Amino acid sequence: MITGKNYIGNLLSSTGKVTFKTFNPQENKENDVVFSEASSAEIEMAVALASEVFKEFRHVSGVKKSEFLNQIANEIESMGDELIKMYCLESGLPEGRAIGERGRTIFQLRTFANLVKEGSWVEATIDTADPNRQPIPKVDIRKMLIPIGPVVVFGASNFPLAYSTAGGDTASAFAAGCPVIVKSHPMHAGTGELVASAIINAAEKTGMPNGVFSNLNSSGIEVGVALVKHPQVKAVGFTGSIGGGRALYNMASQRPEPIPVFAEMGSVNPVIILPEAAKNKGKDWAKIYAGSITLSSGQFCTNPGLILGIKSGDLTNFIEKLSEEIIKIEPSCMLHPNIIGAYETKKAVMQKQKGLQTKASFSDEIAPNFGRQAITTVEGATFLENTALHQEVFGPFSMVVQCENAQQLEEIIANLEGQLTGTVLAENEELKNYNNVINALQNRVGRIIFNGVPTGVEVCAAMVHGGPYPASTDSRFTAVGINSIKRWVRPFSFQSWPNDLLPDELQHENPLKISRIIDGKSTAEPLSK
Ligand code: NAP
Repeated sequence: MITGKNYIGNLLSSTGKVTFKTFNPQENKENDVVFSEASSAEIEMAVALASEVFKEFRHVSGVKKSEFLNQIANEIESMGDELIKMYCLESGLPEGRAIGERGRTIFQLRTFANLVKEGSWVEATIDTADPNRQPIPKVDIRKMLIPIGPVVVFGASNFPLAYSTAGGDTASAFAAGCPVIVKSHPMHAGTGELVASAIINAAEKTGMPNGVFSNLNSSGIEVGVALVKHPQVKAVGFTGSIGGGRALYNMASQRPEPIPVFAEMGSVNPVIILPEAAKNKGKDWAKIYAGSITLSSGQFCTNPGLILGIKSGDLTNFIEKLSEEIIKIEPSCMLHPNIIGAYETKKAVMQKQKGLQTKASFSDEIAPNFGRQAITTVEGATFLENTALHQEVFGPFSMVVQCENAQQLEEIIANLEGQLTGTVLAENEELKNYNNVINALQNRVGRIIFNGVPTGVEVCAAMVHGGPYPASTDSRFTAVGINSIKRWVRPFSFQSWPNDLLPDELQHENPLKISRIIDGKSTAEPLSK
């Protein structure tokens, strides 16, 4: 049962005076449960607990952390329909999407469980001593990755499960050995509480210390601000708007002790359609892209909001076909009246820009909170001059830019802000004639895709979900895949430390049998001395 309360460690609590409800966009009405926003005292308690517990949790073994993560997955699985129903009630997203996202969330948790059970992720590195080195002896130095401290995770509006309470940020922070305080997203506080209860149950069943996890409700920015400014918080994970992410980043960097904010923010995910692809497969791509642009009403950070091509009859045909296909698609419900409000406003601002033509705009009667898809087009020179045209319109919207030639295409790409993805639609043969364009694209994005769509982010070790600012605040890291754990750790060296006092990962005997770098060579063997 959902209580509307906060979890301060294992304790349900609601001492605050501010309350709020979530919203059912399909039925255009508020949901019943009243949620209590976390009070200052509750925020303080959650952070104090996390900070205290870190002393113990940071030393919990990989095997125990793996049991914890697997148990969270089990608890989420065993919630069955209750979770799926709440997800749909609070997001307007269909059941199939909810089930798919739950599967992805469970997969992420189990992937991190396997990673920490195996243990080599700590990148143990040993440089052995050489007492005979001239002119001075060399000391023994051993390095590994260690957890950074309590992490605050902001739940994302567009992924109530996979990027929220027990999503990738939380799973990777637990795996690293960091306690987590979730600032629940106000649009899906009920889904958040259910998942929080799964984490608390798992923590109790696997013997994790009380305070390893807290879940705080909020209806405004105050709770998030207090958490980011709290001296005992050591890092932040965020998915959402550029405005929100940047505000948190600025706050964190202005603290007496600045901390990292790993924010994954806006992106228009440029797609380049090269001339031969437009000529030979333009119609097919138009149909595929109509689907990609409208998938989940365009509410994906990888939504293709910008398509770039070189002016030709084939590109015109592509635009016509894309417009024709997109109008055939039934609009779907967006997450919340605020999101659809922002979509309609940003779309209208865009459509008023000089030189922008609207080629398709769904105009039939639709239910409240459903998003009307639109395709627009503009000349390359106009796009280059007006950076307002470069901004994200979060929803089922895309713009096709008609460039004069390859040079202009390259110049446009070089002038784009940082992006999560870039896609190239091309025939194999023509690709090598556009080296400069491809290089410019690679410089602006975190992932490059050949003949596909950017929507759909595979959870795997090779995935990079991040990119130059403002796609993310730190392009050296990914928010998806096992390497996302690196956001919550710092490298640490032991010099001449007694073997029996070293962490298992660095002891001579290699009791965990992990892969290590010893004097420059990768090995899982014990150290012979
Ligand atoms: P958001 O406005 O960025 O908010 C995300 C979270 O950050 C919320 O919990 C919000 O708290 C908090 N927050 C926002 N501004 C803050 C600030 N100045 N200080 C402290 N906390 C702050 O995103 P959203 O609510 O998910 O959606 C709004 C818009 O963000 C969308 O219309 C879309 O344009 C964009 N968005 C983009 C992506 C993407 O992947 N590119 C994903 C989701 C959303 P409160 O809600 O409690 O105020």
